[in-house]
Amino acid sequence: MSPQPAFTVDLPGARVAFSTRQGGVSEGPYESLNLGILTDDEPDRVEENRRRLAGHVQLDPARIAMGWQVHGTDIASWPGPPPAGRNGFAAPGAQLDKVDGHTTTVSALGLLVLVADCLPVALAGAGRVAMLHCGWRGLAGGMIEKGIALFAEPPAAAVGPGIGRCCYEVGPEVLDAFADLAGVTDGRMLDLRGVAEARLRRAGVTRVEHTDLCTSCHPDLLFSHRRDRGVTGRQAGVVWLTR
Ligand SMILES: [Zn+2]
Repeated sequence: MSPQPAFTVDLPGARVAFSTRQGGVSEGPYESLNLGILTDDEPDRVEENRRRLAGHVQLDPARIAMGWQVHGTDIASWPGPPPAGRNGFAAPGAQLDKVDGHTTTVSALGLLVLVADCLPVALAGAGRVAMLHCGWRGLAGGMIEKGIALFAEPPAAAVGPGIGRCCYEVGPEVLDAFADLAGVTDGRMLDLRGVAEARLRRAGVTRVEHTDLCTSCHPDLLFSHRRDRGVTGRQAGVVWLTR
């Protein structure tokens, strides 16, 4: 079976790619399309993997923006491609802003978040896109609402692979953070995708596309931080305007 490096979703005026672990050059726990440079993988392999993903989705690596993710809710606005010194995707080691979300109105400018259980959430509408890194902390902190507030009208959304309710047992402080939402918990199991869906709908989003795959349940296809006890690679969510 040929590798499937990414799933793509088309939204109005935009395209979204959710990468997998297939089609790269890394080995061992990072096999094979690991995009995370802050893992113990070999940096030159990560760089090759990033080039492969960019080629697969037909984006210029120099036009892909990313941040240093801290499970917060800050969103960087990109008026153009990342300048030298902030272009950490194409030039690993460059300084990165500590942000978990990105937005732009510029065409063919990719916005990327790295994930390995957290949900990548893409928004698109009226000449603007946003990409949000949504773990439970980001969702609890209002990341989805902050992202939607960037748009004049509620955007369309695409939610990528993440840890499923089948595999995501959490503590009481996490369950408490979502006590306002019905149907997203079952005992100690949290439905992170259900949380994202509910928050999107509550903010007025009417179109939500899901690539509904549990990272932990698909070891051949996806990296999972929890399943692999932290020693694993990173996949990505990328969104860009197509016109
Ligand atoms: Zn699962």
